[in-house]
Amino acid sequence: MSSSSSPQIETDVLVVGAGPGGSTAAYHLARHGVDVTLLERATFPREKVCGDGLTPRAVVALRKMGIEPEDHPFERHHGLRIYSRKVTLELPWPTLEDFPGFGLTMTRGVFDELLARRAQRAGARLRERTEALEPVVDRGWVTGALVRDLERGEDAEIRARYVVVADGASSRFAGHVGVRRDPSKPIGIAARRYYRIDRHPGPWLEVWMDLWDGDSLLPGYGWLFPLPGGDVNLGAGLLNTFKNFSNVSAQRVFDAFWRMLPPEWNVTEDTADGRVLSGPLPMGMSRTPAAVPGMLVVGDAAGIVNPFNGEGIAYAMESAELAAELIHEALVRDRPGIAHLYPTILRERYEPYYRIGTTFVRAIGNPTVMRLLTDYGLPQEWLMRFLIRLMGNLSDGPRGDVRDKVMDTLVRLARAA
Ligand SMILES: Cc1cc2nc3c(=O)[nH]c(=O)nc-3n(C[C@H](O)[C@H](O)[C@H](O)COP(=O)(O)OP(=O)(O)OC[C@H]3O[C@@H](n4cnc5c(N)ncnc54)[C@H](O)[C@@H]3O)c2cc1C
Repeated sequence: MSSSSSPQIETDVLVVGAGPGGSTAAYHLARHGVDVTLLERATFPREKVCGDGLTPRAVVALRKMGIEPEDHPFERHHGLRIYSRKVTLELPWPTLEDFPGFGLTMTRGVFDELLARRAQRAGARLRERTEALEPVVDRGWVTGALVRDLERGEDAEIRARYVVVADGASSRFAGHVGVRRDPSKPIGIAARRYYRIDRHPGPWLEVWMDLWDGDSLLPGYGWLFPLPGGDVNLGAGLLNTFKNFSNVSAQRVFDAFWRMLPPEWNVTEDTADGRVLSGPLPMGMSRTPAAVPGMLVVGDAAGIVNPFNGEGIAYAMESAELAAELIHEALVRDRPGIAHLYPTILRERYEPYYRIGTTFVRAIGNPTVMRLLTDYGLPQEWLMRFLIRLMGNLSDGPRGDVRDKVMDTLVRLARAA
């Protein structure tokens, strides 16, 4: 797959894609002094379709990159405000030792640039407007990538001891060496649009559990997240575990959602800022294998979005940090086997929990179960306080309180199953 006429560049680790996954991997490698090159086909700031919501889990990942929320223009929130036809419930993030009691929002245009520049300052070489075309493979081992400088239209080969693939949900790069989506795992689709409205809600992430199109319950959920500076991110999504998934588009769910909002919120064409954009959420570790010799796959490219809540940023960052630590160890000890422990550790860390998530979203995919949950489950505050932990994967583990112990037991049971 290599082109012998292309100029060659050498680096220890090549990271493909500078979203949260790629920038986190590049940062942790660079902070260890590893020579790392981070490729991004766009130029920062670049748009990314997302809800722009960061849970307490993502705050932990950010802090591990030396980014303190108070030093940057984030919007803070204290939990979720959940709406259904019957109830409105405010659910604060739990008080835990391992996680802060707040989350953040920031547009991905600003957020992703913040992370990429952080990696750059730590010593990573960031090459924007550079696209990785395909892996270079030598006797079954990925040894780099063929890349294109999109400014000059010139191709080159970058040789690396390891390649980290972080090219997002529509990842093509890893497909060249056999990474495939597992169709048995859930996938979501969601659409979002920005609005400039006077009513600035908060400090909550606002979530609608049931979306109605007239009298019919749609298989989806909606959100309105307040952003720094007064904009809001309005979005709606659905999962392929929902009945009628194939008959309903993200756009239709989005349209039904904004029609549902009270007129005084002023979410109209006049207050819209940009278009409705949509994208996929690959969930439950749905892309395998997560590594082939010489190459590790992180974030959405590995299908690692949490099926419970559609959160992908924290998991992209966590999987990237894990990949970076293992590669660093492998380089220092000159033992490639260490890097290839990545899929096993990834599975050990997330698979039992994601199995519970997958079972949960399959169950609520049935409209009767969903209606039971919204009508009878939502009003039960104790149940919802447990669910916010379970769905956000926020727990102090076995040393925590009774809710944490229940969650820990569930994960243990899933691991044993
Ligand atoms: C509508 C929607 C709402 C969402 N809301 C949330 C939310 O509120 N909170 C949350 O945590 N998650 C949310 N997610 C999920 C979240 O956006 C992703 O999980 C997250 O962006 C994954 O990060 P990543 O680094 O793996 O990939 P990405 O963020 O997709 O980054 C991949 C990067 O790689 C670059 N790239 C791609 N191909 C190449 C190539 N060949 N060469 C060079 N560069 C390349 C891209 O330009 C991009 O910059 C949402 C997703 C959608 C679709």
